[in-house]
Amino acid sequence: MSATRIALVGIGKIARDAHVPTIAASDIFDLVAAVTGHAPPEGVPAFRTISEMMEAMPDVQAVSICTPPIGRLALIEEALAHGLDVMIEKPPAATLSEAERFTAMAAEAGRILYVTWHSREAAAVEPARAWLSGRAIRRVEVNWKEDVRVWHPGQEWIWTPGIGVFDPGINALSVLTHILPRPLILRDADLFFPENKPAPIAAVLAFEDDEGLPVEVHFDFDQRGPQTWDIDVETDEGRLKLSMGASKMAVDGVSSDLPDDPEYARLYRRFAQLLAGRTSDADLRPFRLVADAFLIGRRRTVGRFEE
Ligand code: NAP
Repeated sequence: MSATRIALVGIGKIARDAHVPTIAASDIFDLVAAVTGHAPPEGVPAFRTISEMMEAMPDVQAVSICTPPIGRLALIEEALAHGLDVMIEKPPAATLSEAERFTAMAAEAGRILYVTWHSREAAAVEPARAWLSGRAIRRVEVNWKEDVRVWHPGQEWIWTPGIGVFDPGINALSVLTHILPRPLILRDADLFFPENKPAPIAAVLAFEDDEGLPVEVHFDFDQRGPQTWDIDVETDEGRLKLSMGASKMAVDGVSSDLPDDPEYARLYRRFAQLLAGRTSDADLRPFRLVADAFLIGRRRTVGRFEE
């Protein structure tokens, strides 16, 4: 089978750190073009818009969108109008209505849409889901704390209303919604806004499932020093700990041996499977939980954020 001719849209940090090297190492995708206002990856032709690209290179088959969530609806609409299959970075959109709209548009157009959640592809996620299945879960605690200065240096869009700490936090929610057995309902939320920013720098969320399982979540975007991306699950048969963004797993302190299979390699393999089976994957549950936090969250003002 020949490699799918794919273009990257938006050549920023994650495109350069993850998408370009992953596609370069893959024999299932060929990076044939970039849609960018700036410099493209080396050796790849650049276009200002998807339409300009399709005029010059009508044999492009798919796009992988790596822009910030705002503006995705217009990009996806343009891609679908040209008959392209589409994969998108998390978070999926600026609003739930937009995400629902482009999910429906892809189905109407008969094109594949893959709404990716890269943390779900972390090495410990499937083993954790398997270990938890059939066990009685008593309590879950999430601590997802990182330094925005390191992961989003100088990015203005990260402070757009509606994003902030939920940009990394949604990764934890994408793991929780996959490994826990029942849907979560948000019961209580506090959102902490720096006095000089319109988006939260921290959040504390309390979820419950329909059997009353308590799930306590702490997000922080101002963590200096070691970074924390942990999920702790107490069950009637031991404690499961996921750490380092669910790339590591331990049960009662004993580490599991896990394969080294990078998240983005798995994402692109999954996209290839979806293309082969002509099936979309657009799970919006993590994004819906974020929207709920903005609906019921108490807004608290904290000190200025300094870069
Ligand atoms: P970034 O470095 O700011 O790059 C985003 C790129 O998107 C820009 O370089 C630009 O591409 C294009 N763009 C289009 N409209 C834009 C706008 N209004 N503002 C800024 N850029 C715009 O962002 P990023 O860190 O790569 O994040 C992009 C997406 O990947 C986000 O959804 C983020 O959550 C996700 N992600 C990021 C990371 C990470 O570690 N940073 C990890 C995983 C996922 P051109 O220069 O080509 O025009």
